[in-house]
Amino acid sequence: MATSRILVADDDEAVLESVTWLLQENGYDVVPANGGAACLEQLEKKSPDLLLLDILMPDADGCQLLERIKGKERWRALPVLMLSAQPPEEASVRSLGLGAADFIRKPYRPKELLARVQAQLRMGALLRSTRMALLRTEEALVRAQQDADSRRKLVDILHEVTGDLSVSELFQILVRRAARALGVSHCSVVLARPGDPQAVVVAAYENPGIQHLTVQLDRYPELKAALESGQPVLVEDLDTHPLYDGVRHVWGIEGIEVPIKSVIALPFSIDRGQYGVFLVRRRRDQERFSPADLEFAQAVVTAAVAVIQRAQMVESTMADNARLEQLAQTDPLTQLLNRRALTERINAEMERALRYDSTMALLMIDLDHFKQVNDTYGHLVGDDVLRDVAQLLHDTIRTSDIVARYGGEEFLVLLPETDDEGAESFAERIRAAVEGHGFASESLGTPLRLTASVGVAVFPAARIESVEDLFSRADAALYRAKADGRNCVRM
Ligand code: GH3
Ligand code: MG
Ligand code: MG
Repeated sequence: MATSRILVADDDEAVLESVTWLLQENGYDVVPANGGAACLEQLEKKSPDLLLLDILMPDADGCQLLERIKGKERWRALPVLMLSAQPPEEASVRSLGLGAADFIRKPYRPKELLARVQAQLRMGALLRSTRMALLRTEEALVRAQQDADSRRKLVDILHEVTGDLSVSELFQILVRRAARALGVSHCSVVLARPGDPQAVVVAAYENPGIQHLTVQLDRYPELKAALESGQPVLVEDLDTHPLYDGVRHVWGIEGIEVPIKSVIALPFSIDRGQYGVFLVRRRRDQERFSPADLEFAQAVVTAAVAVIQRAQMVESTMADNARLEQLAQTDPLTQLLNRRALTERINAEMERALRYDSTMALLMIDLDHFKQVNDTYGHLVGDDVLRDVAQLLHDTIRTSDIVARYGGEEFLVLLPETDDEGAESFAERIRAAVEGHGFASESLGTPLRLTASVGVAVFPAARIESVEDLFSRADAALYRAKADGRNCVRM
């Protein structure tokens, strides 16, 4: 993979130098910019993959700069990580609203900074590849449309296929459309892998019930020949064509009367080593196929295959989008929701509480003296403990509750339909669960004991109007729990 280029903009010479050094040491191509003007200049010149932006710079307020950058079409997709010494609540809410991808508090922890940089670069790459897939899909659509325009009978294929059909439904439509366009009674799509003695009929116009019928290729010599050669095969007359010598012999022995007279087999390739054949046939009472029919059928199939490929791309793009959405909401260490995702849920839950005149609660949980765990056993064990805590919280909550990682060693639990009393007893249950649990026993050999302090805020309440208000209320309660000796719950 090419080295990722990161533009670092900060007015603090020391921070700029240390971040530059840290990222360079980790193999990134770093472009330092001292201040806002230099940042804009380097952005134009160097086209970075990621921008690390200080929120407070003397010649340009970072948030304003972010707004300007995000206002430009060509930088809209550039992930921007904000760095700031401001309390995260204020700064992050402001900058995330303006399109920042993530937020890091100064003084930063190198490991966290690197992890966040890595996560954003990974997301950026995913976004880019999704965008490319969409672009290709659009191009394929335009191509398919151009093909179809010149064969007006096919225009309706595209119309019908723009909805969200499964590939199997698509095959059904294609055989129906192709059969009508070609004026044939028999039209099917058969899939096979090279070398397989069998193939699967996935759709047949003459029998719409067929979705997965296995056939032996030695009974269908035109299929076999089309698959092996990759070339269209025309059998004008089954009764005389040499391809059918062997099969005719078998029919004779078995006393089989075949109603088909004339066949065209058109191979096409779809992805993952699968090959397909459009098999078009006419009965004895119909006109035989001619080379001109073959040419026309080929044109029909080319357009149809473009549509199949497009449908498959749309399917995989949709899968990509779902994965991206998932990634953007998840904390990479614990796999819990991240703060941003939870903030959205809280917003919705606050609205709901107002509308239905109910209550909800937020718990802010902070592990006690967690720094000592890192100092004593190292960060890796610290990370294990955080994962264990996440699991424990996940196991303790009810299905309607939502747990998220607030950042560092702080977790949040959203409790819908819960009042003061309910919230407090639930918080106490969580506190007790942490106290009673042995953490990181796998990596340490013996279980580690920990406690947690919990701050509780309930909505609606006086002077709580926004998510930020709710966060500050829970934060203040947590602060009191710490001041009162830790391992306790405060409201
Ligand atoms: P208190 O009881 O006052 O909460 O003390 P504390 O040590 O838990 O609080 P403090 O805020 O001083 O330290 C939090 C520590 O959490 C510092 C940091 O090393 C650790 N930490 C934060 N995020 C991570 C992480 O992702 N992994 C690891 N291993 N440690 C983390
Ligand atoms: Mg803390
Ligand atoms: Mg703590």
